[in-house]
Amino acid sequence: MRERLAIFGSTGSIGVNALNVAEEQKNFDIVSLVCNGSNNGKIDIMERQIRRYNPEHAAVINEDAAKELKGRLSGSKGIRTEIYSGIEDAIKICTLPWVDKVVNSTVGISGLLPTIEFIHSGKDIAIANKESFVTGGSLINRLAREKGMEIAPIWEAGRKNGKRALYPIDSEHSAIWQCLQGEKGNEIDKIILTASGGPFRNSSIEEMKNATVDEALNHPTWKMGGRITIDSATLMNKGFEVIEAAWLFGVRPEQITIQVHPQSIIHSMVQFKDGSIKAQMSPPDMKLPIQYALTYPERMPSKSIPRLDLAKSTMLNFEGEPDTEKFRCLGLAFEALKLGGTAPAVLNGADEKAVELFLDRKIKLLDIPEAIEKALASHKVVGNPNIKDILLADREARGFVAEYAREKYPGKLKSVSI
Ligand code: MG
Repeated sequence: MRERLAIFGSTGSIGVNALNVAEEQKNFDIVSLVCNGSNNGKIDIMERQIRRYNPEHAAVINEDAAKELKGRLSGSKGIRTEIYSGIEDAIKICTLPWVDKVVNSTVGISGLLPTIEFIHSGKDIAIANKESFVTGGSLINRLAREKGMEIAPIWEAGRKNGKRALYPIDSEHSAIWQCLQGEKGNEIDKIILTASGGPFRNSSIEEMKNATVDEALNHPTWKMGGRITIDSATLMNKGFEVIEAAWLFGVRPEQITIQVHPQSIIHSMVQFKDGSIKAQMSPPDMKLPIQYALTYPERMPSKSIPRLDLAKSTMLNFEGEPDTEKFRCLGLAFEALKLGGTAPAVLNGADEKAVELFLDRKIKLLDIPEAIEKALASHKVVGNPNIKDILLADREARGFVAEYAREKYPGKLKSVSI
């Protein structure tokens, strides 16, 4: 049966790959595409996607960018796509009754509200937006339960059980989810999240202090967007993944460990009660976890997903847990998870703002953990938060970091917007 797909965040690296996967697999119809339209390059990509896939609907959240896109497409023969702007219409075109599955591949807390709306509308969701779980994990799990949705389901091999579900895309979580197949009823003893270690794996704290934006953007194994690449350099990304794993798989913080594995071949592991460890391996390429989330429970052949040649691959190394003194962000993520409530939303909001300031060359790399730590310390945690509590905590954290930057570099930063 053909599946009708909406992609919320189609111009980022996950969205682009999701379209490639859907095109190769042939049994998907692209109904709706959404992008932020934050820059012209993204509008170029969106224009190409519309010309290629001719979806029913497309939305660009930024109004001016939507106008620009409309202008470019007006008078194009055979293009049926209606163009919308704004977040409301963007969500609306992804929750139309005939959409079967939504890919949420947007980055940042801006993905949280869409995820909630997709759950409300009863869609299958393939989710790459980790911030949905980081900032709103308890809320999402509660809503999904109320809707009778499964999260990272374990179905009997090869059989669809007809339930709506949330399918993880993040490579580590896809690996864990794949390891859990066939293990229904077998409790997880431990999750071993692998981490490449990022560009500063072998650097000293002193070297990290003076790291440039370009050095931080130079990830050794994965090609990704700007923010997630910086988060991978500080290991905040791994910290977010710890929180994401806790919510996706219902494990306690003590059950999650990190293993530095520089080759990014083993994407994560699960240890069971009897001590057996299952691992999932493949070359570092997001097409595999995206495809698995789209075609689950089936595994489909693909010509574009690279194959691992074990004889040709180098050794697989494991270097133990990362140093949380050096990678303070990772330690802060564990602390925020244990604090619970709105603390992870502060962790994320403070990080989003600090990374933006670092990418703008307004603060230094190690200001990122310092700012986040201070934001967390100044926050009064709200337990069992609703969406308003979460968004307020996020806003406060951003404001706090902007203020931190202004105070630390008064000459450089006369005005920093939230
Ligand atoms: Mg990941």
